[in-house]
Amino acid sequence: MALKHPHGTGSGRRDLDVNPIFSREPLTIPRDELPAGELDPGTAYQVVHDELMLDGNARLNLATFVSTWAEPEAALLMAESADKNMIDKDEYPRTAELEMRCVHMLARLWHAPDPRRAVGCSTTGSSEAAMLGGLALKRRWQRRRRAAGGPADRPNIVMGVNVQICWEKFANYFEVEPRYVPMEGDRFHLGAREAVELCDENTIGVVAVLGSTFDGSYEPVAEIAAALDDLERRTGLDVPVHVDGASGAMVAPFLDPDLVWDFQLPRVASINTSGHKYGLVMPGVGWALWRDEEALPEDLVFRVNYLGGDMPTFALNFSRPGAQVVAQYYNFLRLGFDGFRRVQRTCRDVATGLASEIGRLGPFEPLTDGGDIPVFAFRVREDVRAFTVFDVSAALREAGWLVPAYTFPENRTDLAVLRVVVRNGFGHDLADLFLDDLRRALPRLEAQREPRRGADGTTGFAHGAEPKGTPAAKLS
Ligand SMILES: *Cc1c(COP(=O)(O)O)cnc(C)c1O
Repeated sequence: MALKHPHGTGSGRRDLDVNPIFSREPLTIPRDELPAGELDPGTAYQVVHDELMLDGNARLNLATFVSTWAEPEAALLMAESADKNMIDKDEYPRTAELEMRCVHMLARLWHAPDPRRAVGCSTTGSSEAAMLGGLALKRRWQRRRRAAGGPADRPNIVMGVNVQICWEKFANYFEVEPRYVPMEGDRFHLGAREAVELCDENTIGVVAVLGSTFDGSYEPVAEIAAALDDLERRTGLDVPVHVDGASGAMVAPFLDPDLVWDFQLPRVASINTSGHKYGLVMPGVGWALWRDEEALPEDLVFRVNYLGGDMPTFALNFSRPGAQVVAQYYNFLRLGFDGFRRVQRTCRDVATGLASEIGRLGPFEPLTDGGDIPVFAFRVREDVRAFTVFDVSAALREAGWLVPAYTFPENRTDLAVLRVVVRNGFGHDLADLFLDDLRRALPRLEAQREPRRGADGTTGFAHGAEPKGTPAAKLS
């Protein structure tokens, strides 16, 4: 099955006009077919460049969690290492070494009991890291079951219905039954008691999210771990926890040093993060770490040549760009602990400030305050009849801002929200401009006789906060 781009073929003219703007012969080239002949590099560059001009302005994108800004020096290092393939450890031993240094830094940051025994790797992002974390859980569970003489053919994984779509993919691709804890009342993420209630002898693990995609809140990892400790005492069931710290694992260590969520909890077997979110790297890098070798079954690990010997690797991809790993190491070196704390602190200040200003505008009610990861969700007050969050999203889009509006999953499908993600590069000035545009849009929205847009008119840029079971047709 070919996945069709929603705005792809079929609409309008077939060929691309390349007019004599470049003071060369006018020509046309096919849009969807490999051109028969060559173009000179300058013309080809200009055509691609011009096409991309119509993409959104990344800095005004408040929907994505992924970096849209990097220091020029990081960009330079990435350009310099664009030719490095991460898998060629033997050919690029220094890149491989920088990867390992990053793993060790993260192991210490996340309090691995013995950082030298922690194992980990870079990935393409948190999604690949989640597949690897989930696979390790599944394999360990299969072994435990077989050792105990029980059937190992019906694994399940327990998580909040708010998990990012990558966990739904993991369950689907690797044939593990997803058990989602629904939202209830004002609980918009996984609760400890509710998680334990869904666990049984077939549970490979519980996923706890540090920084929910839906509202930016931290799930209570320590409480979940304690409830699972209690389950083990009562029943003997030993269910490990994987922490999806796509955003939060690069925020909490710097801003919430007293929060216990990481390898300090013996039950936490593995943690993932997106280097390209609050790790401040441009798109294309994530990290997966296991607390020790026991947590990562040896039979999942492959070996590649490295300096005459071999080096263990665990990854879905073979070839992968090394530039992002280089940039991650640059960021660690450049910012250090204090620098990361300052960057994340600024993001949190901007987020909490903006959330409270939005609350003061009148028609909005914040669900979260931006005080966990610098992300917050807000709703339109129940007594507002003239417009919906979807109208607000559309109005903001006219001013260039991308702010997703979406409906919550079960059992809060009555609730629709807007979400703002504050990233490095979205400072107080841009936040003020955003607030001005929101304020300016209100009189027009309030003058509407009734809402114009509902949930069905939304575009899919909720970045993982789409409802579970989104049909494949919607995936572009
Ligand atoms: C973004 C996100 C993911 C997916 O991460 P990618 O790096 O985009 O693959 C998974 N979980 C959570 C909580 C996220 O926020």
